[in-house]
Amino acid sequence: MTAAFPGKRLHSATRLLHAGAPALRDGAGPVNVPVVRTSTVRFENTAAQADHHHRRTAGERVASYGRHGLDTHRALEDAVVGLEGGHRAFLTPSGLSAITLVLLALLSPGDHALVADGVYAPLRRVDSTLLQRLGITVEYFSPTHDDLASRLRPNTRLLYLESPSSLLYEVLDLPALSAVARDRGVTVATDNTWSGGWFHQPLALGANISIQAATKYISGHSDLMQGIVVVDSPALAAKLSTAYEALGLTIGADDAYLALRGLRTLPVRLAQHQRNATAVAEFLQQQPQVSRVFYPALPTDPGHALWKRDFSGASGLVSFEFRHATPAAANAFVDALRLFGIGASWGGYESLALAAQPERLREHRQWTGDAPVVRLHIGLEEPQDLIADLAQAFADAAPAL
Ligand SMILES: *Cc1c(COP(=O)(O)O)cnc(C)c1O
Repeated sequence: MTAAFPGKRLHSATRLLHAGAPALRDGAGPVNVPVVRTSTVRFENTAAQADHHHRRTAGERVASYGRHGLDTHRALEDAVVGLEGGHRAFLTPSGLSAITLVLLALLSPGDHALVADGVYAPLRRVDSTLLQRLGITVEYFSPTHDDLASRLRPNTRLLYLESPSSLLYEVLDLPALSAVARDRGVTVATDNTWSGGWFHQPLALGANISIQAATKYISGHSDLMQGIVVVDSPALAAKLSTAYEALGLTIGADDAYLALRGLRTLPVRLAQHQRNATAVAEFLQQQPQVSRVFYPALPTDPGHALWKRDFSGASGLVSFEFRHATPAAANAFVDALRLFGIGASWGGYESLALAAQPERLREHRQWTGDAPVVRLHIGLEEPQDLIADLAQAFADAAPAL
């Protein structure tokens, strides 16, 4: 492909496939972006060095030191900025560090932040161990039960959301919530890990910042830890950039390369995750031991209408609630699985199961049950094999369920 492909605007999947393709030299060149590892940057002369430094401090994305990342980092940032429809991206060593970066960049002593109660649970640890020490107040609220406008205070600086929520996949009305916050000058950040940035574009729906754990679907192969923050404006980029520099955040070029490689197949992988997860969710709905299945793509899910409006696909995460089981029986069910791995995280090609901790569920206002919940990540195995594994685990654990 030549650099300027003529004709119509390309579809996103096509742009993802060709993002960052290196220019040909002397009539030939590699398909892929080179892995440019470096700890520092060399300049032609002191004037060039001063120029880079000046442009960098003026907010341009220019590397004047190894920590800023060169070609590989730049190609990944550009691809993700294109995917999320933003202004600039920041690459961090994990999804959690991306969250912490946003919180530390935007909140100062005396500030107040409203955080959705269904967020990725370790955020609460950032709050209790770091933000509280800095005199920052975090208040958890239910974006579907509470009135956001009445929760906003004069010192509220940040509305932090995640849609769908962790564990129970509560779909939020992002346009409505963002409008209320932005009307009061409050920045809106949301965790977009569930969609991989592929079938949900929070910045187009009113959020200012989209956060992803690239560890999950962007990597797609359970071999990478990485976080990405995309912001919608130069003003937010400047704020994020200051904190990013101060915290000394960076990632290695090999990891940037792996994330870029994952992006190439993100659309095809996610389509298959959705097909497989839908088959499993429909199977689970028919099981007498299961009282509820949480998956926004199911017409029976309470978030289905909002999901249809604001998302163009669904992930491989499916949770379900047992009708009667004790926590020990739920553990026996998980232990009886053979094909599913047992573990945290998700987004790789392989299926995983996790018994949800009751204290995590109780953090969600949406949660009214008391039976155990199991979270499944449905991978790319043949769904009939996954269903057979679940069926034998239901049978094996039957006396306890
Ligand atoms: C896993 C996850 C994170 C954290 O990512 P790590 O790379 O594991 O630190 C953040 N948000 C969500 C929704 C996640 O699932």
